[in-house]
Amino acid sequence: MTTPIADLHLHTVFSDGTETPACVVELAHQMGLSCISITDHDTMDSLPAATAASQRVGIELIPGIEMSACADRQEVHVLGFFLDPVSPVLVQHMEEQKARRVERIREMVRRLQAIGVQLDLDEVFRLGGEGTIGRPHVARALVNRGYVSSLPEAFEKYLGPKHPAFVPGSPLTPAQVIDIIRQAGGVPVLAHPIYLDRDPLIDTFAAQGLAGLEVYHSSHTPAQVARYARIADRLGLVKTGGSDYHGRSKEGVAIGASTIPYQLVESLKQWQRQHPASSTRS
Ligand code: AMP
Ligand code: ZN
Ligand code: FE
Ligand code: FE
Repeated sequence: MTTPIADLHLHTVFSDGTETPACVVELAHQMGLSCISITDHDTMDSLPAATAASQRVGIELIPGIEMSACADRQEVHVLGFFLDPVSPVLVQHMEEQKARRVERIREMVRRLQAIGVQLDLDEVFRLGGEGTIGRPHVARALVNRGYVSSLPEAFEKYLGPKHPAFVPGSPLTPAQVIDIIRQAGGVPVLAHPIYLDRDPLIDTFAAQGLAGLEVYHSSHTPAQVARYARIADRLGLVKTGGSDYHGRSKEGVAIGASTIPYQLVESLKQWQRQHPASSTRS
């Protein structure tokens, strides 16, 4: 018998992935995974379809999300697992973020126009479909219009934090999103710490109620995995991991590109049992 493994970081068309929840679940099943979490940006709208598909193929589905926050003008992504999708504080946050993301894209397209890059706002919204809209949809429009030849190039030239068209994804601090996840009964985990690359902040977030660290990620080298495992052990954080699969909007990253043994899913569950939903701190 093979050891059960999990991929706890996957995106669908409900944010900036290119595959439906049913397709992601089916692919994960074909890869031999026992457990997955769909962690779309600022939304849990994939959950009904993903739940139905997971029951059909017989794979465990952990309710998940990836929330945007901002610390010192840097983007911070916090994953939430096992949240109650109808928690009022969470539902309100997701609605606010959805609206903010629309405004943010309008602002980014305005700023691109100011530097001579002409994009059709309707085209960007069409690319976003029904899900939460984000920079990859702007990046795809830049490719379609011939301004760049790939999505990474769009970020390097126009959409990354150092560029004039950049607008932060959320006005909330990591402490605030950690709090929302915990109020919804969820387990907050810092995503892909290498993108942040400021290890002292992990100590700060741990003191603010963070439960886990995404030690295993498709962008982490073995040396980085070892470094984050040490940090997680020192701070008593649960280690999680996943591929950060986005389908065709992230070339070269397949479902299961980064996985964890099921034992670590048990650790997440144990943390949740020991930390029932908190009420508002403020
Ligand atoms: P947003 O949530 O709108 O800020 O967009 C964040 C998403 O953009 C990430 O989850 C990735 O899917 C994508 N992304 C961020 N940086 C890059 C990059 N340098 N190249 C390609 N995609 C990127
Ligand atoms: Zn994304
Ligand atoms: Fe992320
Ligand atoms: Fe992600």
